[in-house]
Amino acid sequence: MIKTDVLVLGGGLAGLSTAYHLQKSGKKSVLVVEKKERAGGLAGSVRFRGFTFDHTGHLLHLHDPYGRRLILDLLKGRTSLIARSSWIFSQGRYTRYPFQANTYGLPEKTADECVVGFLKTLEGRAAAAGPRGDFRSFCLRHFGDGVSRHFMFPYNRKLWRVPLNRLTADWQGGFVPKPTAGEVLRGALMDQREGFGYNAVFHYPRRGGIQALPDALAGRLAPGTLLTGHAVLGLDLRRRRALVAGLGEVAYERLVNTLPLPAFLDLSGELPANVAKARRALRWNAVWCLNLGVERTRVSDKHWVYFPEKRFPFYRVGFYSNFAASNAPRGSSSLYVEFSRKPSEPVSLPALERSALAALRACGVLRHGDRIVARLWMRIPCAYVLYDFNRAPALAAIAPFLKKNGVDSIGRYGAWKYSFMEAAILDGRACAESLLEPKRR
Ligand SMILES: Cc1cc2nc3c(=O)[nH]c(=O)nc-3n(C[C@H](O)[C@H](O)[C@H](O)COP(=O)(O)OP(=O)(O)OC[C@H]3O[C@@H](n4cnc5c(N)ncnc54)[C@H](O)[C@@H]3O)c2cc1C
Repeated sequence: MIKTDVLVLGGGLAGLSTAYHLQKSGKKSVLVVEKKERAGGLAGSVRFRGFTFDHTGHLLHLHDPYGRRLILDLLKGRTSLIARSSWIFSQGRYTRYPFQANTYGLPEKTADECVVGFLKTLEGRAAAAGPRGDFRSFCLRHFGDGVSRHFMFPYNRKLWRVPLNRLTADWQGGFVPKPTAGEVLRGALMDQREGFGYNAVFHYPRRGGIQALPDALAGRLAPGTLLTGHAVLGLDLRRRRALVAGLGEVAYERLVNTLPLPAFLDLSGELPANVAKARRALRWNAVWCLNLGVERTRVSDKHWVYFPEKRFPFYRVGFYSNFAASNAPRGSSSLYVEFSRKPSEPVSLPALERSALAALRACGVLRHGDRIVARLWMRIPCAYVLYDFNRAPALAAIAPFLKKNGVDSIGRYGAWKYSFMEAAILDGRACAESLLEPKRR
């Protein structure tokens, strides 16, 4: 039987980073088991008919000094630093992201409703903000009723697929930019080019899509550490054994989980009643992504565009070939079209594709006569964790169970949170450091 000090479930960025940081210490043996043939998880890319498709846009927003140093070192000289060009398409025109700070160019009545609504929030006169810290009330309180009605509500309903008063505002942290009054007023009067928010610039590999990052991290691991093509099939947490396809039982001292928390709990056998109940309370959405290769250069000059209106079946469209020319063969462009669904909602891909292509023509991204030379659907079965009011109590009920069984559950889905690639890498480092602390044993 294989034995290891630390067994890491999942070879996405969080799992790879845990192994890398543990190995740097040289103090513990570590194995990473990954069900797919290639590591990377959601930060993986697929080569298809000469195009490189990621799992929708995966752009590197680097905020932490250590994260930045490590990621740029891993991709040494092989990334571009790009100033974001992101837009909203509504009422038949493009306005700059974020909507709340850029109403210039919208019809006068809409811009007026947005600015007046925002100014009322400053006077504490925001409309109908509810008593609970729900996301709907958060939008009204911070942006006012105009911005909420014209963008925040319709866009977020499309993305989250649940009534917005069922969500908390906890997830939005640094993700939803909150402009000042000056920025809102300037943004109503002129085409304001200042980059707002957490992702005003981004890094992206010049070749190989975002897969270049997990590949570089995996390349730093000692041979034999990363076992791809081996799915975890079951766990005996009490005996500290994992059943892994093609390997049989693996004995470990500590377990690091990066699989989606509900999937991990489902592999863990019979759960205590309160943990089973908490597991049933966890909610998420699935994203379907239609990747397209088009035989025309530069179908758009933008990086990505948000579509709040109902008449567009997708919530966002982005352009891989504008992140790196190498993502598409010469003379062509590539894009991704994102749809959100409840995890078990039935989806007719041919119908969705037809409506998406018609909508892309309606907004001018595609032209009649454009030849589509590659189309590839990807499903992200667990894409966004829903921050509803059950999430925090459920996590609080699950945490002692994990601790008791020597499990660290980390990364975007292991920790069951809204976070990004750099955070997954930092989670791995923090986990390795805590596993190396003698007092934990
Ligand atoms: C639509 C979308 C867009 C995003 N855009 C960005 C962006 O622009 N910038 C950014 O920084 N971040 C972005 N992210 C977030 C980013 O993808 C994640 O933060 C990061 O990739 C999470 O890494 P992880 O290792 O925690 O999880 P994952 O990448 O999910 O890794 C988990 C791994 O576990 C493996 N696994 C699952 N089941 C088993 C099993 N039974 N046995 C063995 N292995 C298994 C999976 O194959 C996977 O490799 C986006 C996410 C989504 C959904």
